[in-house]
Parts: sequence; C-alpha cells; structure tokens
Amino acid sequence: MAKARVLLVEDDPVQANATKKILQGTGYEVLWSQDGINAIKSVKMMKPDIILLDVVLPGLDGYEVCRWLKLDENAKGIPVIMLTVKKELADKISGLQIGADDYLPKPYNELELNARIYASLRTKALQDELRMKNKQLEELLGKVEYMAITDALTGLYNRRRFHDVLAKEFERSKRYGTPFSLVMLDIDHFKKVNDDYGHQAGDTVLREVSNIIMKSIREIDTASRFGGEEFMVILPNTERENAKIGSERMRTAIERHQFPGMDRPITVSIGIAGLPDPELANEDRLIRCADYALYSAKRNGRNRIEATEGKDLEKTS
Ligand code: GH3
Ligand code: MG
Ligand code: MG
Ligand code: MG
Repeated sequence: MAKARVLLVEDDPVQANATKKILQGTGYEVLWSQDGINAIKSVKMMKPDIILLDVVLPGLDGYEVCRWLKLDENAKGIPVIMLTVKKELADKISGLQIGADDYLPKPYNELELNARIYASLRTKALQDELRMKNKQLEELLGKVEYMAITDALTGLYNRRRFHDVLAKEFERSKRYGTPFSLVMLDIDHFKKVNDDYGHQAGDTVLREVSNIIMKSIREIDTASRFGGEEFMVILPNTERENAKIGSERMRTAIERHQFPGMDRPITVSIGIAGLPDPELANEDRLIRCADYALYSAKRNGRNRIEATEGKDLEKTS
C-alpha cells in the first residue's frame, strides 16, 4: 500500500525537522512547505492526503491558506489540522469555522500528533467510502428509474410512461386549449412475420420500426411501445393535419426500409386522434378514439392512416 502523504506547512525549520522525523518514523511520506503560497502550490501539485498547517506563517497566514483550500473544489476534501502555539478557545473556533478539521496546540507530543493524523485520515477514508457508495447508489437508482419507464426490447418508453406523459399533455391541452395529437401505430400482419421468419426476426423488426419512429419524431414528441407490435406517439402542440403529415413520413419510411433477411416490405397502419375535441373528455376516450382510427385503417386496407374525431366514436358503442 502507498504511504499516506502529509503536507507539513511550518515556517520554523527546527520545528519542521522535528515534526518531519516523527511523521517519517510513523511511516508517512512528508512534504514540507515553509510558507502559505508554497503550501497552496504544493497541494495542487502533490495532492497530499492530509495537511498540517501552522497558523503563524510569513505572508499568507494559516487561516487564509485554510480558507483558500476549503473553497477549492479539488482541495476541500483534504483534512486540515491547524498547528499553533495559541491555545485560546477563540482561535480554535475561528480555525474550525473556516473549515479546519482539527486543531493541535504546540508543543504537541508524538503520540497526540499521530493520533490526530490517524483520526483525520480515517474520517476522510470513511467519507470517501460513503461518497463512493452514494455515487453507486445514485447510479443504481438511475438504472432502476430508467428500467421502470423503458421497454427492454426497443428502448422506447413503456406503456406506463406513456400513460404518465399522456396524462400531463392531456391536462396541459385542456387547461391552455393547445392542440395535441395522439398517433397509434400497429405493424400489419405481424403474426405472419413471426410465422415466416421466426420470433427473433420479429424482434428485430420491432427494434428497427422503433428506430425509424424515433428518427421521424421531434425532440418534444414521445414515442412508446404500447403493446406487442403497437406503438403510441404523443405529439404536443400539433394539430391533426400536421400529425397526419408526420405519420405519413413514418409510414413511408417503414414501408421503404429494407429489413434484414426479409424479402418483402413491412408496413404499418396508423390511427390518429387529438385535442381539442369536445367529445374526448378524458385520456381513455382519446386512446379509444385513436384505436378506433387504427381499426378503420386496418379495415380500409392497412398500410394507411386514418384520423378520427370523438363524435365518430359514438357510432361504435
Ligand atoms: P394486423 O395487421 O391485424 O395487426 O395483424 P397482426 O398479425 O399484426 O396482429 P395480431 O394481433 O394478430 O398479432 C400480433 C402478433 O405480434 C402476435 C404476437 O405473437 C406478436 N408479438 C407480440 N409481441 C411480440 C414480441 O415482443 N416479439 C415478437 N417477435 N412478436 C410479438
Ligand atoms: Mg509559525
Ligand atoms: Mg398488427
Ligand atoms: Mg396489434
């Protein structure tokens, strides 16, 4: 294991040498700075594990050095033990207030010096460990959150996330009267793709269709996998007519795409519904309306787009 590196900031060479001997005897690597400016340079370049900082120094005094170190992003984690002949409580407090980690009055004895350094290093090690564990936990949490809203096969948002986003957009559209469109997309005769080329190839088609959808939408749009071979795209601030144009882009891109190992095109049918629509009072009705439009697209021959309004829905139920 590498030796812990101690930076000793002490202007008095006799004191410095004595302390250095003690520390080296314990097994530390010791760096020595004779004044504040050099100490700061040394911290930057040598990255010590701990700093023993004399208070009374020529030029920048120990308090100023400590304040500077505790403001520096890279240095503030390094424990600082203030060394001083002053024993007054007020001095101790002002040292601790500017961020010193401990205080050691001179003359110190060998045992106390070593004990203080050891304690500070141990605290630092524990803090580092805690910080690392927190970071790992945050990453894990990020992954869990990602998994909770993502469809594993396609990387699109999953159905759960879709409902959350839809609820927000619905609410916003109702409140401000802004339009928005819901596009429901279903792969045509997908069962036959699985039957003819195998489930694996079917999965590849799902992934590539997802990629094409992602490439055709805007940053503000949300694409999700709603079910097996069904997808939903939420288009905020988008009138039905513009949703049709966007959907047509997706439809043709998919139809023209060469899917690996497949000797025929894959096509999709698309249903569109949207707000404002007085007959669509809730998200459920909106989804049913898009589903009905999709059903019409299937019935009218597939590989096509249909848009439906809420009032058409009444005819079905
Ligand atoms: P239509 O044109 O009317 O939509 O016909 P279709 O065959 O696409 O629709 P149907 O609902 O009859 O079949 C959907 C198929 O999708 C059945 C199911 O096995 C398949 N499927 C669902 N999820 C997955 C999946 O994750 N991977 C694969 N490879 N197939 C899936
Ligand atoms: Mg001094
Ligand atoms: Mg289908
Ligand atoms: Mg389907």
